[in-house]
Amino acid sequence: MTRLLVRDLEQLATPSDAPAPVRGRALRDVELIEGAFVLAREGVIEAVGSMHDLPSLPGDVEEIDGRGLSAIPGLVDCHTHPAFAGDRVHEFALRAAGATYEELLAAGGGILSTMRATRAVGADGLTEIVARHRDAMLAHGTTTFEGKSGYGLDRETELTQLQAVRAAGGVPTWLGAHAVPPEHRDADAYLDWAIEHVLPDAARIAVAADVFVERGTFDVEQARRYLGACRKAGLALRIHGDQLSEIGAVPLAVELQARSIDHLEATGRGGVAQLAASDVAAVLLPVAALYLGRPMPPARALVDAGGAIALATDFNPGSAFCSSLPVVCTLACTQLRLTPEEALAACTVNAAYVLGLGDRGRLAAGKRADVVLLDTPDWRHLAYHLAGDVVHTVVRDGRIAYSRA
Ligand SMILES: [Zn+2]
Repeated sequence: MTRLLVRDLEQLATPSDAPAPVRGRALRDVELIEGAFVLAREGVIEAVGSMHDLPSLPGDVEEIDGRGLSAIPGLVDCHTHPAFAGDRVHEFALRAAGATYEELLAAGGGILSTMRATRAVGADGLTEIVARHRDAMLAHGTTTFEGKSGYGLDRETELTQLQAVRAAGGVPTWLGAHAVPPEHRDADAYLDWAIEHVLPDAARIAVAADVFVERGTFDVEQARRYLGACRKAGLALRIHGDQLSEIGAVPLAVELQARSIDHLEATGRGGVAQLAASDVAAVLLPVAALYLGRPMPPARALVDAGGAIALATDFNPGSAFCSSLPVVCTLACTQLRLTPEEALAACTVNAAYVLGLGDRGRLAAGKRADVVLLDTPDWRHLAYHLAGDVVHTVVRDGRIAYSRA
């Protein structure tokens, strides 16, 4: 079996081996090796170290010349909505011209417009679309992505979205409670129907369930009922919470021991303290806050209080049309007041934790061989170069999956 050796790297940076999720001060502990190598075999990292300690390697070895490059773990995007048809560029332009939310809805915008396009596109179309988005993420260094449903909101399209994410190698999350589709009377009637008719099959494909807790969408009582049913069906729990207002999503996430609560732009001091004392990961989505002109989530307060954070793109057609985790890292360092080290841990080892994947997110023997080579001798250019083309080569599962050349 051929080995893969990345040799003569200027620098290798990886989150340290603190137990996941890495929290508080430990988020800054990045191991740095100058003049490094990574050796992989059958999709697994065999050894990482200094070139001085490179063992002699009998047999076939495929080599990558790492001179001028630095290496970080494959990036993990733990919150995306890639299974949609059409786009919302018209809405984007209207918003840029000062349109109100009501005017956008009157112009046919919002989640329900994406729902109509997604229902119409069919299984082959969705599979092709998700694969295309996966490849765009890969070119930015993302080797593992989570993908949510939530644009079908009928049985067939919800299941098709989950299958399309799985077919593209992603981690599917059933966002059955994203919005109330027009054919149902109200949120309660829709949830009754979704739990009875979609959940049993969704639970066979997805690994987690997610709900949008917000005024006018799903309240805490409805979310508790939906997530309770999803947990019984074996799914991990995620919550879109505190994006626009605090209506009790954080206490619910802690009560249900959710894997994560995502957004948190509106979370105040009480919520920060409660989250930091829990095992619920806070997934921060600065692109969504930037896009919508909302306040940034309280990242610094969460970390300083000892909390576990992850970073993700929230890639979606309405409020975060961005598939680049390096851009998210720049926003983390400039808008969330995180250090490059904290940002790296948040979109590698901690993002993998959110997805229940303990086999990746660090460069160490025994981990999956997912490696990003940056076209710069200092890995911190990952965050430093805003929207820079810093990704040189991506190794996924021990094979070269993307190369800029
Ligand atoms: Zn989202």
